[in-house]
Amino acid sequence: MAVAKLKAPRGTFDVLSEDALKRRELHRRAWAVLGRGGYRPFETPVFEDTELFKRGVGDSTDIVRKEMFTFEDRGGRSLTLRPEGTAPVCRAYVEHGMHKLPQPVKLWYWGPFFRHERAQAGRYRQFSQVGIEALGSDDPSLDAESVLLLAEVLEAAGVRGATLKLSSLGTRESRESYLGKLRRYLHEHEGDLSEDVRARVEENPLRAFDADHVGTRAVMAAAPRLLDSLSPEDAEHFAEVCALLDDACLGYVVDPTLVRGLDYYTRTVFEFESDKLGAQSGVGGGGRYDGLVAELGGPPTPGVGWAAGVERILLASETKFPAAPRPIYVAIDEMGTRRQAFGLVTALREAGVRSELEQAGRSLKGQLRHAARIAARGVFIVGDGIEWTSLDTGEQRPVGGVQEAVRIAVGVVT
Ligand code: AMP
Repeated sequence: MAVAKLKAPRGTFDVLSEDALKRRELHRRAWAVLGRGGYRPFETPVFEDTELFKRGVGDSTDIVRKEMFTFEDRGGRSLTLRPEGTAPVCRAYVEHGMHKLPQPVKLWYWGPFFRHERAQAGRYRQFSQVGIEALGSDDPSLDAESVLLLAEVLEAAGVRGATLKLSSLGTRESRESYLGKLRRYLHEHEGDLSEDVRARVEENPLRAFDADHVGTRAVMAAAPRLLDSLSPEDAEHFAEVCALLDDACLGYVVDPTLVRGLDYYTRTVFEFESDKLGAQSGVGGGGRYDGLVAELGGPPTPGVGWAAGVERILLASETKFPAAPRPIYVAIDEMGTRRQAFGLVTALREAGVRSELEQAGRSLKGQLRHAARIAARGVFIVGDGIEWTSLDTGEQRPVGGVQEAVRIAVGVVT
């Protein structure tokens, strides 16, 4: 009977070694950029109480309505694989009383996230994000710093020519009066709107700006804009963020239709898009969320941050990430023994030299071919004695013993 082939679940993927190396390298570069900005690494669990995302991300968002991987544990408690990182970080901030630390608290994270989306190129059900959060200050320089750090991470990753879109959603209070205006406008044009948007006019009218539906897009092109209805304080905050980005010579487009798909945003929102990504053009984005910590039961605490997709960054990147470092190869001829070869490779590794040995029963000829295939810098052939061949210069010479071999190898790799 044929056995059904097992495959990775839909929307997930294995990270093969070559990609794993690129991801490690991206992690290293992101850490360097974010560390310079004063952000410290942080981790939260991959699953949380479902309630956190319902309250934090918002009941009316696509993420909570349609995209969460929610399950019951054996005690009947509802848990959800995290679809995003901001609500968990805010939960941790409250749980650990981090408002008592010097503010702002600046954190960065990297890890897997889960959304039950239609799988397609650049859109997965398990994907990785790198992200930052700065909690405890509403200073506009934090917004500007946040945007600049994402620009720098993209730059360090070799993503060129991404477009930065920027807007402000105002505070929740100033948004309320605007939302009334927008709802009235949407009701007036109800006939041209998609069913989905029409159903959410009361609950979440801003989402109409995100719609792909042609009729809805036409209606939204002439809709009243939040950016024109900001309170004087919000407008001033936004102007200051823009001025700081101007001073830093970072180009951006003010896009009043930018709303982003999560409920918690206030004031600054931004997104980087790359035309190298096709339909899924968002590389990373974020914004300010001054009400979220209080929403989760903490003291009123402003915050700002972003998340960027690791897979999308690598898809959009033009950098050739470095290949694996070249090893030294230890071969065995018919006079040599496994114990000699193993002893030599162990000594090389203890000395910090990346090295490999024959472990697949190859002939000497096969071993030398293999050494070339793995781009070895040189080969020690263990037999009667030890012989060194540099695969870079072709130089060949007998070696007095293990210690001399280690000296040669260290000299070659450094
Ligand atoms: P968001 O939290 O929706 O703002 O997403 C931030 C970034 O994460 C996006 O710009 C994408 O780069 C990435 N991202 C979001 N959803 C997915 C997904 N389903 N697959 C791959 N990357 C994603």
